[in-house]
Amino acid sequence: MDKTSRRGFMKVVAGGTLIAAGATPAHAFGPRETRKTPEEAIGILYDSTICIGCRACSAACKQRNGIQADTAAPAAPAGAAQPPGTIPGIWDKQEDLSPENYTVIQMHTDGAGGFGFMKKQCMHCIDPACMSACPVSAFSKDPETGIVSWNKNACIGCRYCFVACPFVVPRFEWNRAFPRVTKCELCKTTYTGLDCYAACCQSCPTGAALFGPREALLEEGRKRLALKPGAWHDYPIGHIKGAHSSAKQVAKAYNARIYGEKELGGTQVMILGSVPFEKLGLPAVGDVPNSAISEGLQHTLYKGMIAPLVLFAGLLAAAYRSTKQ
Ligand code: SF4
Ligand code: SF4
Ligand code: SF4
Repeated sequence: MDKTSRRGFMKVVAGGTLIAAGATPAHAFGPRETRKTPEEAIGILYDSTICIGCRACSAACKQRNGIQADTAAPAAPAGAAQPPGTIPGIWDKQEDLSPENYTVIQMHTDGAGGFGFMKKQCMHCIDPACMSACPVSAFSKDPETGIVSWNKNACIGCRYCFVACPFVVPRFEWNRAFPRVTKCELCKTTYTGLDCYAACCQSCPTGAALFGPREALLEEGRKRLALKPGAWHDYPIGHIKGAHSSAKQVAKAYNARIYGEKELGGTQVMILGSVPFEKLGLPAVGDVPNSAISEGLQHTLYKGMIAPLVLFAGLLAAAYRSTKQ
């Protein structure tokens, strides 16, 4: 194809695409409806204001998931640069999620001399982008508990899920012949009873990581938001609905909302904090899930196969013209 015909070809393709888009009313490009929260949705409420950074949660997670423990934070070698967001002498190793870490505790500065801890893990989104992006349905969301899990038998290793996840959660075992995608699967808890629930919450000494039905966790979160800074509150420890202990602690000034109540259509792991959420490394996102926007667009373009047909016709015309020349 010479230069002229290549230009002609591009014109036809662009024209076809414009005609296809123009044939679709603008309002039809809206997002699809957001998925509903499963009725028995379980989750975690992480309260950064009462986290002491002990990392018992990440050690318990490794143990529950059969990962070799490597929880000691070695001191930074002499002369090494302090990792960003850390405070010299207090926190020497800033860990991130990896095939060996389904959850990590990170410490972030607030930019004004203070700091806050953040428990990073899969958020178990109500409308998961990883699931929407996966071309072979290797990700699924349990219709009852809402746990988002990955199926090794379906995965083709394309890693679209990595790109799609707004929280940069899924990790890949690059060093294995048959690599897995790894992330928290809420300890594969199958019911909201007492015995089988998230190891990280079972081990948390302060109740900063609290397990239970999403609705009950939201209710507890709203109670905390209504507290006056300095007021005493009885913080449940472990499982909000099951047998648990509690500890009276003084409330800090909370951010005005529960992160994950509405963000991206809601998540089942929700965060409370006093340091602004963006400073804790959480993305500033809207309430509409990315998956609803992209699927809405795709479904509109492919509706009745009009857009692909117009494009195909354009390609045929370009090929015909080129052959004739
Ligand atoms: S946080 Fe990421 S990996 Fe977890 S459910 Fe949401 S999109 Fe999927
Ligand atoms: S729920 Fe289980 S897998 Fe997920 S972070 Fe907690 S301990 Fe780890
Ligand atoms: S176990 Fe609880 S207090 Fe300790 S780091 Fe984890 S969430 Fe924070």
